[in-house]
Parts: sequence; C-alpha cells; structure tokens
Amino acid sequence: MIRRKVNQGINLEEYKDIWVIGEQREGKIHPVTIELIGEAKKLVEGTEKKVVAVVAGYDIDEEVNKLLYYGIDKAYYIKSPLLDVFSTDGYSKTIADLILEKKPEIVLVGATSIGRDIGPRIAAKIGTGLVADCTKLEMDPEDGKLLQTRPAFGGNLMATIVCPINRPQMATVRPGVMEKAVHESNPAGIIEEIAPVLKEDDIAAKVVEIIQSGKKRVNLTDAKIIVSGGRGIKGPEGFELIKALADKMGGEVGSSRACVDSGWIDHMHQVGQTGTTVRPEIYVACGISGAIQHLAGMSESKYIVAINTDPTAPIFRICDYGIVGDLKEVIPAMIDELDKT
Ligand code: FAD
Repeated sequence: MIRRKVNQGINLEEYKDIWVIGEQREGKIHPVTIELIGEAKKLVEGTEKKVVAVVAGYDIDEEVNKLLYYGIDKAYYIKSPLLDVFSTDGYSKTIADLILEKKPEIVLVGATSIGRDIGPRIAAKIGTGLVADCTKLEMDPEDGKLLQTRPAFGGNLMATIVCPINRPQMATVRPGVMEKAVHESNPAGIIEEIAPVLKEDDIAAKVVEIIQSGKKRVNLTDAKIIVSGGRGIKGPEGFELIKALADKMGGEVGSSRACVDSGWIDHMHQVGQTGTTVRPEIYVACGISGAIQHLAGMSESKYIVAINTDPTAPIFRICDYGIVGDLKEVIPAMIDELDKT
C-alpha cells in the first residue's frame, strides 16, 4: 500500500464525491449507514458530487443491494472471505487501499464502536486528518470545504473544524443524529465489486468466537418513545416507575449519566454526549435537570416532556410540555390517564 505523508502537496481537484463507509454487523447493514447516506445527499445538493457507499464483507450481496434504494449513485462492495467477520486490520486496510485509489473528497464513518476503531486507522494509513464524533456537517458556501462540528471541552462549546489541505476530509458521525435517507421504491445506482489485495497474514488479530452478552439490548437509537430517569428518581428502585410509564407508552427506558454513574442502571441506557444520541417522537425526561451534556443527546427529539420539581431547571427551556411536580405523583397520574384511553 502507498502511504501518503500528511501535508504532502496534493491536487485538490482530483478528489471527488462523498463516500459513506457502510457498516454491517453479522451481515446486516447498521442504521447509521442510512443516516450517513441521508446526510451525504444533503451535502451534495446543488453540486456535481456523487454519493458512494462502501461496504466490506462477504456473502452480503442482498444487503449491499438494499443500499441502492436510498438514492446513492454507486456502491463499492469490497468482497473477500477474509472480510466475512469484522477485523480491524482487514477492514481498515482494504478501505484505505480503495480510498487511495479512487480519491474521494469526503469520507464519512459512523461513530460506532466499529467506526471509532477503523476511522482513525484509515485516516492514518492514507495520511489525512479525522474529526471524530461530529454532530453537524455543512459545506462552506465560500470554498466548498466541509465544516465539521462536534462538542468540545466536555460539551461546553461546539467546535467547527475544517481540514484545509489534506484530502479526503474524514469525519466520524454520531449515530442517531442525522436524518435517515428516504427509502425509494425503485433502486438507483450501481454496485461495483472490488476484489481486495488481502492475505491472511495482513490480519494480526483474529476473531475466534463471538459471545453474545446475556443482557437484553436496549435500542434507544430507533425508539419512537423514550422515558428517561435522572437523579430525581432518588435510587435504582425509581426506575420501576420509569419502566412502568415506558411500558405503558410502548417505549424504551433511558437515563441520565448521574444514574449510570451511581450504578442505578446500565450504561446502555445512557442518553447524552457520552451515551447514545436519540431523536424519538416523544422524550419524557423525569427528574433530569437538563445539563448541556444530556441535551446534546436528546434535544433533536420531536416532542420533549419534562417533569421536574424545580421550575428553574434548564430542561424546561427546551421542552414542549413541562410539568412542575414530583415525579412520584406525576408519573402514576399519567399512567392512570393512559389506562383510560
Ligand atoms: P441532576 O443535575 O442532579 O438533576 C436532578 C433533577 O431532578 C433536578 O433538576 C431536580 O430538580 C430534579 N428532581 C429532584 N427530585 C425530583 C422529584 N421528586 N421529581 C421530579 N424532579 C425531581 N450527562 C448525561 O445525562 N449524559 C451524558 O452523556 C453525559 N456526558 C457527560 C460528559 C462529560 C464530559 C461531563 C463532564 C458530564 C457529562 N454528563 C452527562 C453529566 C452532566 O453534566 C450532568 O451531571 C448530568 O446530566 C446530571 O444528571 P441529572 O439531570 O439526572 O441530575
């Protein structure tokens, strides 16, 4: 593989199109891929640039084909039996090789555990920079550079970062932040299969066995309704009330970090800057003050309902419906009302 040194003079004109690194787990495309395609389509609006998806794997032809229903121009399918199971080395090497050959202008990767693993490695292999964990992307109308925004200094400010000289411009993007591309009734674009140059020896760490965690997974990213508890629930038993309301509404249970740090609930329930970013139809925040790091993960929810004893709590500044009151009284009253419907 040819490794290009950072800052080595390059011809920016050669770099075209926006690539989305499609993520698949056990042969299923991860939803963040569709979110990145949606975002890439917005970024190319009014330009000649194309949206290209890249998926590495084996025996996932049908899944790759499904991407053509989201309005992409092309999909590169890097296909090899050695890519059947995810490996850091195999995926980052083959994707980096393809980037060096085809020269995309922008490369977007989901900030998932896999994306956070391979994104920086790909950037290092190809000699470019990477802005991690972006929550907003825009094209600069002046010079067409990608403006990449992410929380900085513990979420206290939003930093917008540009990559002035190196190409491609690379970003990992938080799952759940961008809107998914619309599923079209007819497929568009083409799939080009790539046979990568990859040997078994290129993959240093091999997956021997996959052991599923015994815990029930929480799907906060796709949930339409989330009822979240904060320190105001006063203890782990408070989540029984939160769960009762979530079950009644047909939603999932979320949490602030305060409850996770106190050991009241598993981290997989945490919403916010260091948890999951969500955008449900309804988000009910119970006993959550509304710290900026929590808001970073849920402020894009369609309707926000807040229950808090403190009328000055910051959560009331962003909610659509605010109830000043004790959640121990308000939640049972809400459940009673829902029972009547
Ligand atoms: P508090 O701020 O203590 O608020 C509790 C609220 O409950 C208060 O408003 C109170 O009025 C109300 N209350 C009390 N009793 C009742 C009652 N009986 N009924 C109704 N309301 C009641 N936080 C996150 O949530 N997610 C993150 O991802 C995250 N990431 C972070 C990353 C960094 C780098 C840092 C520095 C912090 C992060 N935090 C995160 C922590 C964040 O700053 C706050 O400390 C946290 O969100 C506070 O949680 P809380 O609202 O549950 O608790």
